[in-house]
Amino acid sequence: MKTILITGAAGFIGSHLCDRFLNEGYRVLGMDNFITGSPANIDHLADNPNFIFYENDIIESIDVQANVDYILHFASPASPIDYLKIPIETLRVGAMGSYNVLELARIKNAKVLIASTSEVYGDPLSHPQKEEYLGNVNTIGPRGVYDEAKRYMEAITMAYHTTYNLPISIIRIFNTYGPRMRLNDGRVIPAFLGQVLNNEPLSIFGDGSQTRSFCYIDDLVEGIYTALFNDYPYPINLGNPEEITINELSREIIKIAGEEKEILFKPLPKGDPVKRKPDTSVARKILNWEPITGRDKGLRLTLDYFKNLSNPTLLNKNP
Ligand code: NAD
Repeated sequence: MKTILITGAAGFIGSHLCDRFLNEGYRVLGMDNFITGSPANIDHLADNPNFIFYENDIIESIDVQANVDYILHFASPASPIDYLKIPIETLRVGAMGSYNVLELARIKNAKVLIASTSEVYGDPLSHPQKEEYLGNVNTIGPRGVYDEAKRYMEAITMAYHTTYNLPISIIRIFNTYGPRMRLNDGRVIPAFLGQVLNNEPLSIFGDGSQTRSFCYIDDLVEGIYTALFNDYPYPINLGNPEEITINELSREIIKIAGEEKEILFKPLPKGDPVKRKPDTSVARKILNWEPITGRDKGLRLTLDYFKNLSNPTLLNKNP
């Protein structure tokens, strides 16, 4: 039985990865300090003999005695609402946390896949974003702590590859949504769905003409699964290239909710990118991967998850 360590296991994406690798017959070592994740995301795995959980801050150290074949490095605050509140932890997990992960991988001779982000492109001047685009990041802007942490993480990961020949995968994830997100994590889909469930007007920041592209979690997990077993060591965008404006998204959500909603326009936060859309031709060519879940299905599944959430305190968990 192969063993995989997943950092950030109690988070939105990490918990889905735990499920997937357990289903594929792996022994999964999940690691998390719950700074933005929740025990509720992995509660269902408590009795699974192939799941071992370590409550641990990976910034301090990573002590794993077992053999490890693969590492998925997903520990990091991911949502602006989180990393603006804990900027130093965000920088430290990208720097020290990633260093600890890579040292462990070197010692254990394990393949590492790191969760980078479309935010390495900053407020892009090139559209759609190809992997070769080098980005437009304001190092000292509010989002700089996250963007630069991830850029550093990519750099140190590539340095381990070139110095020690460590097998690596670097994936740049674009906006992903689905069950186990937090309603109040500040991202637009949970925000709109929460407003629908609470019978509130939908709030749009700016005039709503900014675009985003949203990938459903199952599609992303499939892309990560495929990337892990591919030896291409350069960055690969994973996301859904179908771009929509926030205004269009609000209309789709109103349709799914089945009732009319008022819309409130609010000022656009500083540094919010105007356009964001992945060029996924590398993922198609190298991984033979593309997203298959339509927004209508994905949004309905996510709304159902929020409707069925039994513990309302989970909706308000913030660091
Ligand atoms: P999340 O906040 O739900 O999950 C991150 C997890 O990492 C949390 O459980 C948190 O407690 C844990 N963590 C943070 N710092 C830690 C530390 N020092 N030690 C141990 N655990 C720590 O976020 P997510 O949306 O699941 O994102 C997971 C990863 O994917 C992140 O690295 C993020 O940058 C990347 N990513 C996500 C998206 C997205 O759309 N969700 C987009 C791009 C990149």
